[in-house]
Amino acid sequence: MLLGAIADDFTGASDLANTLAKGGMATTQFVGVPASKAPADCEAGVVALKTRSIAPEQAVRQSLEAADWLKAQGCEQFLFKYCSTFDSTPMGNIGPVAEALLDRLGADLAVVCPVFPATGRRLFMGHLFVGDKLLSESGMEKHPLTPMTDPNIRRWLRLQTRGEVGLITLDTVRAGPEALAAAFHAERRKGVRLVVTDAIVDSDLMVLGAALAGHRLVTGGSGIALGLPENFRRAGKLAGGAGTKSVVKGPAVVLCGSCSTASQRQVAAYLKSRPGLALDPAGLMDGSMSIDKAAAWVAARNGAAPIVYSTADPASVADAQQRFGRAEIAAKVEHFFAGLVRRLADSGVRRVVVGGGETSGAVVEALGLTSLGIGEEIDPGVPALVAERNGPLGLALKSGNFGADDFFEKAVERIGTA
Ligand code: ADP
Repeated sequence: MLLGAIADDFTGASDLANTLAKGGMATTQFVGVPASKAPADCEAGVVALKTRSIAPEQAVRQSLEAADWLKAQGCEQFLFKYCSTFDSTPMGNIGPVAEALLDRLGADLAVVCPVFPATGRRLFMGHLFVGDKLLSESGMEKHPLTPMTDPNIRRWLRLQTRGEVGLITLDTVRAGPEALAAAFHAERRKGVRLVVTDAIVDSDLMVLGAALAGHRLVTGGSGIALGLPENFRRAGKLAGGAGTKSVVKGPAVVLCGSCSTASQRQVAAYLKSRPGLALDPAGLMDGSMSIDKAAAWVAARNGAAPIVYSTADPASVADAQQRFGRAEIAAKVEHFFAGLVRRLADSGVRRVVVGGGETSGAVVEALGLTSLGIGEEIDPGVPALVAERNGPLGLALKSGNFGADDFFEKAVERIGTA
């Protein structure tokens, strides 16, 4: 493994893994710190933690555990990935984790760059924007767990750190890698270990990425990963096997627990040519629908890539929530999909496409998957995945509003063959 990343939440980890795979690195996403060694052909490993909103001491402990494991896999460079809206409180966890990683990895300085131009997160003069609004006027100031009330990232991070925080502005980034290297050096001489660095478009991130070759620790949003694979390619270290078509073969099923407008369109499009079983939450509640019944229905259509979906319009969802309770119905539906996917995978289904973020989490947990190989991108932000579960298992995990209308059909075909 060349590049080892630690992400502070699951979807952020997937986003980063997808960026690294697109950049040409053979990438695996790990669910928590693995107990065993990484696959031998893995060039970039992303360990997904859930440390964004826990106590700082725990976030530090878990992040160091991940760093130790990545170090043991031979990584040359480490990336601490947080949200590009810099989700944190005056207590942490970005500052404490970054400083602890610097110490553990014996690194003298790390860049801090919460930038993701594709989603409008840009940093200028150390101030973070979301679209054309300052972070603190973007709605993020009202976030329930990490209200971002100060757009000045240098000042906000300084509340969380022991040491001073530096700043490198856009004019230096635009002056190129040599100017950047000199600026990093100047910060080092001042004893600064964390340096907030501006970037507003992808080409800034590419220049910055080039200047970060050889930096032991890098921190940022997933945009900071855009320019890193190229350093390894230039050094002749990449095997060129990233995103290769997976070797998965076998029956497919689509499970959709998302009720987003995109998912509603995607389910409707898929039903035009594939068999579907609509899951009525009331049926789950009164026992007229069960995992057994749904599994038998799928088995009878093995080979036709059927879809089981609870996707419904907002009025039906509101009605079910009112009758049975919002949390109760969600738990029941997630439990159903978890049980169903386990049953189907045990009986030979090898390709699983899932709609819904929470539903995807329930599926990954139910299948006991601890590592996911990142394949080619199906639609922006959603890669084909391959996991090991009594042989290769192909997956696509799509959160609510991702994907084009024909996503399910494309996903079924891209994650393997019949
Ligand atoms: P998304 O990514 O679109 O938010 P999620 O899977 O994260 O999708 O969340 C959808 C939530 O709604 C899940 O908790 C799911 O169990 C629940 N749910 C799914 N179908 C229904 C339904 N018909 N009525 C009420 N709740 C539902």
